[in-house]
Amino acid sequence: AGTGKFFVGGNWKCNGTKDSIKQLVSDLNSATLEPDVDVVVGPPFVYIDQVKNSLTNRIEIAAQNSWIGKGGAFTGEISAEQLKDIGCKWVILGHSERRHVIGEDDQFIGKKAAYALGQDLGVIACIGELLEEREAGKTFDVCFKQLKAYAGMLSSTFNLIDAVSSWDNIVIAYEPVWAIGTGKVATPEQAQEVHVAVRDWLAKNVSSEVASKTRIIYGGSVNAGNSADLAKKDDIDGFLVGGASLKGSEFATIINSVT
Ligand code: PEP
Repeated sequence: AGTGKFFVGGNWKCNGTKDSIKQLVSDLNSATLEPDVDVVVGPPFVYIDQVKNSLTNRIEIAAQNSWIGKGGAFTGEISAEQLKDIGCKWVILGHSERRHVIGEDDQFIGKKAAYALGQDLGVIACIGELLEEREAGKTFDVCFKQLKAYAGMLSSTFNLIDAVSSWDNIVIAYEPVWAIGTGKVATPEQAQEVHVAVRDWLAKNVSSEVASKTRIIYGGSVNAGNSADLAKKDDIDGFLVGGASLKGSEFATIINSVT
């Protein structure tokens, strides 16, 4: 782990029922969590209110998506303003399932991030390469292109100073697509290598201050058995956890893997 406060997010994706979420919240409420870790969970939209009303406020809430602008005639969408209204502090954007299953592109995701930040939501900004891109030696190119879209949209939406300060509310999640939901976790060395490259990119393209303070978290098949080794790496500032965040005790172990 680096010098920033460790950050662990749980992405529940499109999982759960009122009953299973009641149980998960109860398990999280009774878990002992390291105090010096930011903890966030991302329930499906329809359960956010239930979670907000029953989960300890030690844990903050993220949505898994938000609309690119102000609400209105956009059937099926949820606006950043509405997320704020029901108590969300964060939104996960650019997740590989949104990119590769739903078809969202860099520009669209960048716009969503700029809008959400403008509404004072924190953004968990996901990036990551496909297996064929890694095998073709394009991992850095892909991640830099995705980062550039976030950074470009911030600089065109905010004035220069606000664009840099908006990075205070961004956590970058490096999630290699081949590792998400596959059980094939990146090795600590593979993750560390990309995290260093992302930090260098931020130093060169945004500022050295943003590079040193932005938390870069890893996601992709993190579980209670591999999180401690990953957390030892200097540039791994936390995790975004999918499957293993659906089990309260396992998620707590991952949160507590920072030492
Ligand atoms: C994710 O969805 O962000 C994720 C990392 O999933 P999993 O932990 O299940 O690989």
